[in-house]
Amino acid sequence: MGFLGTSMASLQEYWKKRNFAKTSEPKGTIKKSSSKKLVFVVHDHYARRHHYDLRLEMRGVLRSWAIPKLIDPQGYEKRLAVQTEDHAYAYKDFRGKIPEGQYGAGVVKIFDHGYYHLLEQDQKKIIFELHGKKLKGSFCLIKLKNDSHDKNWLFFKKK
Ligand code: MN
Repeated sequence: MGFLGTSMASLQEYWKKRNFAKTSEPKGTIKKSSSKKLVFVVHDHYARRHHYDLRLEMRGVLRSWAIPKLIDPQGYEKRLAVQTEDHAYAYKDFRGKIPEGQYGAGVVKIFDHGYYHLLEQDQKKIIFELHGKKLKGSFCLIKLKNDSHDKNWLFFKKK
């Protein structure tokens, strides 16, 4: 998965987890050129455990984090955000029902979407300004220290 400054965008894991003959999720490709307006989406995912999925366009794919607790747009509560596999760019428009027996089975809705500006980024920190309908302002993703799985981040709105 590897969110490293030097890592190449890849959809191998995304493709491997899904059977596109059975799910209506897009197979997608890595988007070639990136415009200045980067997109973001937050999915509301009624899987076995309800959660949100924050996705930020980066290098032609959507870097993704699963957030188990409710996102409060006005609040500044820190939320655990577990990095998941990069998703295809086309996933920004996906909503629907992932069939039973398929990876992530359950209803997927769009909680919010729009564009964002990347303000700061290194291997342990991403600071970005969201321009959504619900989520507006500066948000942070900070990688947790001492995380052996290398995928746990904190997501919160900047004060
Ligand atoms: Mn999900």
